[in-house]
Amino acid sequence: MIEKSYLVQKFAKLKFGQFNLVGYSVGGEETVVQIPEMNVCFDPGRCPQFALTSDLMLVSHGHMDHVAGLGYYLSQRHFQGMKPGTVLLPRQSEQAVEKLLLAWQDVERQQTPFKLIPMTPGEDYEVRRDFVIRPVATHHGFPSLGYVLINVREKLRPEYLTLTGEQLAELRRQGVDIQYKLEVPLVAYLGDTSLGEVFTNPDVMKAQVLLCECTFFDPAHRAKAKAGKHLHVEDFVKAIARSENEHIIILHVSRRTGIRRAKGILRKMLAPEVMAKVHFLMDFDDSREAGDIDESTPPAE
Ligand SMILES: [Zn+2]
Ligand SMILES: [Zn+2]
Repeated sequence: MIEKSYLVQKFAKLKFGQFNLVGYSVGGEETVVQIPEMNVCFDPGRCPQFALTSDLMLVSHGHMDHVAGLGYYLSQRHFQGMKPGTVLLPRQSEQAVEKLLLAWQDVERQQTPFKLIPMTPGEDYEVRRDFVIRPVATHHGFPSLGYVLINVREKLRPEYLTLTGEQLAELRRQGVDIQYKLEVPLVAYLGDTSLGEVFTNPDVMKAQVLLCECTFFDPAHRAKAKAGKHLHVEDFVKAIARSENEHIIILHVSRRTGIRRAKGILRKMLAPEVMAKVHFLMDFDDSREAGDIDESTPPAE
């Protein structure tokens, strides 16, 4: 008789208003966060199956815990007859990643197509007229970017609000620009970062949802946070001081600190109304859906 049990890697699934977030994030191990409604995945991590369905893959930086699955993402999409994924990445990483992907073509003997879009802070990537992706510089001591997903709405200028349709049409015929663009930052993802200017960026601080790392929580881990250019909880509290975000999701918590303990430490440092909008992605008690390695529940057969 063989004893049989199941090891299941569970992922977090959170719903915030109009978005779902599906993901997994443990510092140094794997970070992948998908927003299915926006066709976007932030970092492939080790590329779990769900990440394949996003046409846009936004790479924050070259550390293995964020980018290991990139080759798999592209190869599997090709193999399954999907269109090539579009990969946005820091400009400084483009050449090395291209080399890597060409090497995979040789190794795999498959002409996996790929499209790399090198990104620089200040240069938007327009997905559609009403949807742009804005890269922002982060502070990881390494070429790294965060990304803000921005909804662009065309609005009528206030001075024309009382005009009739006919009058507006006439102004249009005369070539008057009667509209302006209203930008609504929806989601900001920062990848790995230490404290810095990014936390004064209005797109980041006003995004409806901010996805932010906080790797270390123990006082003894301050030096580790500094050396790895990550946020320690003391930095995190400063980082979000100007936050106007509706929700802040904490990613990349080190395995050295359990989520429950991390939450307890943070709760003592934040005002209750701020704490109420902070969530840990990997808080399985809250979501009741995600878990780490769950050996207790075998899947239904
Ligand atoms: Zn990382
Ligand atoms: Zn990193």
